[in-house]
Amino acid sequence: MRPELLNPLFTEVEALKGVGPQLAKALRRLGLERAVDLLFHLPTGAIERIRAPAASPVLLGRNVVLEVKPFEARQSSGRGPTRIYAADGEGNVITLAFFNAGGWAKKQLPLGEPRIVSGKLEAYGDQWQMVHPEVLEPGKGAEPPLREAVYPLTEGLTNKRLRELVAAALERAPEVAEWVEPSVLGRERWRPWRSALAEAHADPEAGSSRKRLAYDEIFANQLALQLLRQVSRRKRGLPLQGDGRLSARLNLPYELTGAQRRVVEEVRGDMAQAAPMLRLLQGDVGSGKTLVALLAMLNAVEAGAQAALLAPTEILARQHHATLLRQLDQIGVRVAILTGREKGRARDSVLMGLASGEIDILVGTHAIFQEKVGYRNLGLAVIDEQHRFGVSQRLLLSAKAERPPHLLVMTATPIPRTLTLTQYGEMDVSRIDEMPPGRSPVETRVISDERLGDVIDGLERHVAAGGQAYWVCPLVEESEGSDAAAAEERAAVLRQRFHGQVGLVHGRMKGPDKDAVMAAFAANQLAVLVATTVIEVGVDVPNATLMIVEGAERFGLAQLHQLRGRVGRGEGKSTCLLIRGQTLSETGRARLALMRETSDGFRIAEEDLKLRGPGEILGTRQSGEAAFRLATPEMLGELAPLATDDARLLLDRDGGLAGERGQAARLCLYLFERDQAVDLLRSG
Ligand code: ADP
Ligand code: MG
Repeated sequence: MRPELLNPLFTEVEALKGVGPQLAKALRRLGLERAVDLLFHLPTGAIERIRAPAASPVLLGRNVVLEVKPFEARQSSGRGPTRIYAADGEGNVITLAFFNAGGWAKKQLPLGEPRIVSGKLEAYGDQWQMVHPEVLEPGKGAEPPLREAVYPLTEGLTNKRLRELVAAALERAPEVAEWVEPSVLGRERWRPWRSALAEAHADPEAGSSRKRLAYDEIFANQLALQLLRQVSRRKRGLPLQGDGRLSARLNLPYELTGAQRRVVEEVRGDMAQAAPMLRLLQGDVGSGKTLVALLAMLNAVEAGAQAALLAPTEILARQHHATLLRQLDQIGVRVAILTGREKGRARDSVLMGLASGEIDILVGTHAIFQEKVGYRNLGLAVIDEQHRFGVSQRLLLSAKAERPPHLLVMTATPIPRTLTLTQYGEMDVSRIDEMPPGRSPVETRVISDERLGDVIDGLERHVAAGGQAYWVCPLVEESEGSDAAAAEERAAVLRQRFHGQVGLVHGRMKGPDKDAVMAAFAANQLAVLVATTVIEVGVDVPNATLMIVEGAERFGLAQLHQLRGRVGRGEGKSTCLLIRGQTLSETGRARLALMRETSDGFRIAEEDLKLRGPGEILGTRQSGEAAFRLATPEMLGELAPLATDDARLLLDRDGGLAGERGQAARLCLYLFERDQAVDLLRSG
């Protein structure tokens, strides 16, 4: 349970003074639900103010704090502003203008009484003017600070109000024992946590304090991953050593690449140990990860255990199932599929087969790891994950099981090293850094959507020559259904030209309907597949050699890279057309140019990390998993390796986090809501 010390930070914002339902709603829009969220909502800039005795030309355009005496109020006719004329310390006339707030202004600025006004000093004709200044009675309340932090805001929330709320949240922040390694703290000259927090809010340029807070966040993340690793590795799994009798009978049309061979050996080595494997397999799209998974699963089956393969989508689960059936049926390995769609008797029979051991390999979506699904002897879990399977789910699978299966996570996006550390820090990493032979690079072109007609003509030639093509429509942000609508519209337009040769898949279609379309495309009964990004993941149709992406500037680069990876899988030359809108920002242009320039997935991912942040690459922006609130991508790059070492060192010395620093580190875990990791300590 969370230590009491931190409870004041985890109360809802409504507990703060003056926060009613209206304000709470505005705060929620910014994701500020509890006091702790306010603490981590750091300012993004600052307003500088100058306290001056009187207006003067050098102050034009600056934020100025002045003492004035109002002497005349004038309400303009119609919808014009109320103007209050006031004299500053040297007798200059300042016009204070208020729109739709005349009554309020007159009350705030009684004639003949001194007042302090603060606002931007402007010239209006030959007069000085301030529009909507803040007004204060001298001696009453604090003057606006000369340097004020500015926060990201939303409608119904002023900077002033937010500043007050942050101050209230800061008051709730306790003094805590130090969790940062003393040598790091000394070298970086970081302040203690609470004081760093206060400084980061007071001064948006307080680089050192921001860095410290980012470090804390990353440290909590790394420590949680290391704990997961420690607890998992301490458990006994099943040492599995296959004898090769099944894999020898596999009928493969090609040789393994060197990289595949090496990775398979690494996996076999891990699986032979009693400590459960925790391995991440990175390999670009099309590098042949499925085959590695297949050989690993056969290794388990040869050793008398069951294996499970988790796919991120229904479509992909079915495709994997079909591939495995084709290769394994003839050698007597029994493969079954289980997704949300298997119901009733079909489902029962799979469940029984798993429990009795009649099924050797199960393929499916997340349904395959639900509690109700009981395996006789699950020895290996392979997760073909495309990043949708988060840390907490991996945790459920390996750390909570009594006899955890060996775990192989496969990912197609080349993840920058920093992100590998923060996402998979508990795992060993294997890389497939070599493509199967015979792949020709995909030619990439960027085309303005003004030339859509030319694109469709080109598509016609491609289809006439017997080729197949993907046409991808972007996700439309405004409403959930409209991406499907956009794809439907595009399909309708293409059908006028290509008639029955056009298929359509999008996320709102029923599963069996999607499968039917995909199957028809794979069997070359359809020439053009119009799709939303549902096809991003894993489908394999070698005869499709043309990829058209509409609204390309709206995709992440890593996503475009994935899409492009759908083509270039067969013999023929492949092309990727990126159709862009007509208004394109500088960066938008540069990003698409990079796609044209390189097919190096790592370079593309690094670039995406810089431009869009980790959520985008990992596809986790929506799920909330792996979101760092304080650490920017640059900070992640600099601090993740350091925090990883620090976490490891701490656990080496004090695996139970029982010592003084260990206790402090527990607090850090709770602060960043890695409660599950602390729970592991108790159960492990
Ligand atoms: P991914 O790593 O994206 O999952 P796949 O496993 O789907 O890639 O493999 C992509 C394609 O490459 C498939 O058609 C597969 O049959 C083929 N392939 C895999 N390994 C080899 C190899 N060693 N030689 C030739 N083709 C291969
Ligand atoms: Mg794959």
